[in-house]
Amino acid sequence: MQFGALIMGNLYVLIGFDVEHDAEPFSDTCEGVKKGIPSILNVLDELDIQCTFNILANIIDDNFDVLKQIKTHGHEIGCHSYDHEALAFLSDEEIHWRVEKATEVIQKKFGERPVTFRSPYLLGNTFLIKKLNEYHYLLDSSYLIAHHKTQVLPYHQSEIDWTSKGELNLLELPVSSDPYIDDPEKSDLWPWWRIIGAKDAKLKINRLITKQNEYGKINVITFYLHPWEFINLEKARMDLPDEQKKRICGGTGEKAIGNFKDILMWLKKQKNATFTTMKAFRTIWDELIPI
Ligand SMILES: [Zn+2]
Repeated sequence: MQFGALIMGNLYVLIGFDVEHDAEPFSDTCEGVKKGIPSILNVLDELDIQCTFNILANIIDDNFDVLKQIKTHGHEIGCHSYDHEALAFLSDEEIHWRVEKATEVIQKKFGERPVTFRSPYLLGNTFLIKKLNEYHYLLDSSYLIAHHKTQVLPYHQSEIDWTSKGELNLLELPVSSDPYIDDPEKSDLWPWWRIIGAKDAKLKINRLITKQNEYGKINVITFYLHPWEFINLEKARMDLPDEQKKRICGGTGEKAIGNFKDILMWLKKQKNATFTTMKAFRTIWDELIPI
């Protein structure tokens, strides 16, 4: 697939895993954390890639043995909130304590304050963004291009509207989607990268690169994935309509591992490709584009 010719400057690839219950919120098991994370770490070691794991704070105690391996393998520990409530729909007070508690728990368990955040369900709001900024987070990655459409590259948020550019220190890292498809569900890379396959993701990434090229010579590709996608959930018992179950659990397990490797190896071959954690990317971005 043609790609190299599209890259005019640097290409940054940022992979974020939301570490949570299996098919959150449809189960309370953590088999994906226990069995999926070791598979993911193997693939990342093999390809020499570092990435970010945004962890749901209330699963840490029961899964710490496997979670601590993430750090041992050189990846970043970020935050995926405290209990996976849809923060955007909660009161300011309820958002506040969840950000505070999740940050404290992660800092206490991993010995380092998280600086990267991803909202449950990719639902951000302006109060949350200002709270993250106040709590010294450096980067949020909750803006889904498929849903919001306007931003296709990282930006500092406005304190009036988190989806617009402004002066906050927090950097928003939009999650990659195909900007030329109107239907949010169809333009999203997820879950099609594992259901349709790597080819679909490559096509959408190509189209995002084309769009980003309208703005300059920096290309940034951001993924949202989950450890539970890397174990087979197709036969798992979930109280869900068939169609929804197919969308959530389709292609999980071996197929997902194969597609994941395929996409990563393809991206690694591209001109000037750098794979990095979100935290490290923040430093790179500040040097490229001073605030
Ligand atoms: Zn989540």
